[in-house]
Amino acid sequence: MAQYTGVAVSPGRVIGTIRSMAPPVAEPPAGEKLPAGADAAAEAERIPVAAAAVQASLIRLAERAAGDGKKILEATAQMAADPSLTQTAQGLVTSGGKSPARAVWEAGDQVAVMLEGLGGYMAERATDVRDVRARIVAELRGEQAPGIPEVEEPFVLTAIDLAPADTATLDPGRVLALVTSDGGPQSHTAILARQLGLPAIVAAKDIHQFADGTEVFVDAGFGTVTDEVTEEHLLLAEAWTELQKHPLTYEGGGGVLKDGTRVQLLANIGGAEDAERAAAANADGVGLFRTEFLFLDREDEPSVKEQTKAYLETFAHLKGKKVVVRTIDAGADKPLPFLTDADEPNPALGVRAYRTSWEKRSVLTNQLDAIAAAAAQSEATPWVMAPMIATVEETEDFIALCRERGLAPAGIMVETPAAALTADRHLEACDFASIGTNDLTQYTMAADRQLGSLAHLNTPWQPSVLALVKATCDGARAAGGDPESFGESANKPVGVCGEAAGAPGLAVVLVGLGVNSLSMTPRSLPTVAKVLSTVTLEQARELAATALAARTADEAISAVRAGLPILGELGL
Ligand code: PEP
Ligand code: MG
Repeated sequence: MAQYTGVAVSPGRVIGTIRSMAPPVAEPPAGEKLPAGADAAAEAERIPVAAAAVQASLIRLAERAAGDGKKILEATAQMAADPSLTQTAQGLVTSGGKSPARAVWEAGDQVAVMLEGLGGYMAERATDVRDVRARIVAELRGEQAPGIPEVEEPFVLTAIDLAPADTATLDPGRVLALVTSDGGPQSHTAILARQLGLPAIVAAKDIHQFADGTEVFVDAGFGTVTDEVTEEHLLLAEAWTELQKHPLTYEGGGGVLKDGTRVQLLANIGGAEDAERAAAANADGVGLFRTEFLFLDREDEPSVKEQTKAYLETFAHLKGKKVVVRTIDAGADKPLPFLTDADEPNPALGVRAYRTSWEKRSVLTNQLDAIAAAAAQSEATPWVMAPMIATVEETEDFIALCRERGLAPAGIMVETPAAALTADRHLEACDFASIGTNDLTQYTMAADRQLGSLAHLNTPWQPSVLALVKATCDGARAAGGDPESFGESANKPVGVCGEAAGAPGLAVVLVGLGVNSLSMTPRSLPTVAKVLSTVTLEQARELAATALAARTADEAISAVRAGLPILGELGL
């Protein structure tokens, strides 16, 4: 029997067979030639045959996919049929004597570079060409296609980590659970799994010890995977499946505690499609609009007109609702060519987010102009905030820019220990704060949020992180905030928009620490609302005090779980 442990990032209990993600296709050596005496014409002919097989498999995958994933797969399938790639490669075999795999690799490069030279939409297709090239090379070598395994039966997917492109093909109907050996709880993979409602464990560093085909029980509540599947595991997995058939719902109007206290439950979004999903999930509004997501693929700064249009499209789904718009948070894991320096030695500690406005002031002022223009034409109520604030001078500078444009309320994100510890002075200068627990945790623990090896440090259950959340709430109170008032009417409100807000046990603790609103992926709204409904404000405060006084993150989790039996009942 073997059992491996990682960090649970999205709940669920399932039994399934392990299928591992194929590793990336290795580049064929530069000098790889046809073997002596090989029939060059016959070898070259293998290339269109392999390309056709790749195209057929991509079409099969596209048929099963939906939404953006389907579109990406269809576009990639079309690329596989493009004769410019196969004919160039065939020429490199017949007249250059290269091996078919090497020839495809080089031809793919030529086509990709040509597309990049054309710019715009065509340049974006270069990534598809490189993907197709890798698939054809794998086919020629008889290797498993890169990416998510193509098997019919649902399976437990194991991987080192997922690349953004892999996520497009992640079909929750086929993947029962996701277990990665790398990736932290705040990594892209973890955030995506939560959005999809896919049971997931990250940083299970030994998971690859399980061979493909091994039947396992995955407990993504506790973060364990075992190949000893017992009768009890079967019952637990069945209970989880049963729970999924009667999904909880959120009706809106705030999470209501047992004593009637209401906590605003908001959604995190990246654009108009997410806004539509948030509205459909009855979110009370938006607590974090990650505006940089609109521009991650852009080489140049979008114009004010273009931005205004994008904001209006998003606001259109949120009539009459609060929408907390965060100004561009570029840098570190979200580089933007027009704003951040790709060569910084320490990008997470570099000129990122609000700091980019020191040198490139107009990008921030243009964005604020666009938000103000969209606000004037829309029925949503934008609140504006700046990311990665450390000093009070920065807050004052940002708020002055907002006031000049009539943008109110205007606030800041608390993502640095510096801002948390001086929250009273920051909140005297601004209207509200939103705690970004993802970054606040990484900066408190000095632990890169992307690194699986640091996942045990990178949890907002760390008592030190909880102490900084409390310091922020206390600071808001000292600046005139009202700790008893939640939601819209609160003076100097403090929200949480990091992933912690969507973790039901933590949500209770955060409310107990004095947080007025919680913003999360819309999928988490029903469970957070349900768990909040089982405690009074007084009980939430007691649980928060216990977590805060714990010696370790694990002890904080255990103590809160013991006080919240609903978590076990819901399989969380
Ligand atoms: C955070 O840091 O908690 C946050 C919400 O911002 P992001 O995850 O976009 O860095
Ligand atoms: Mg952040």
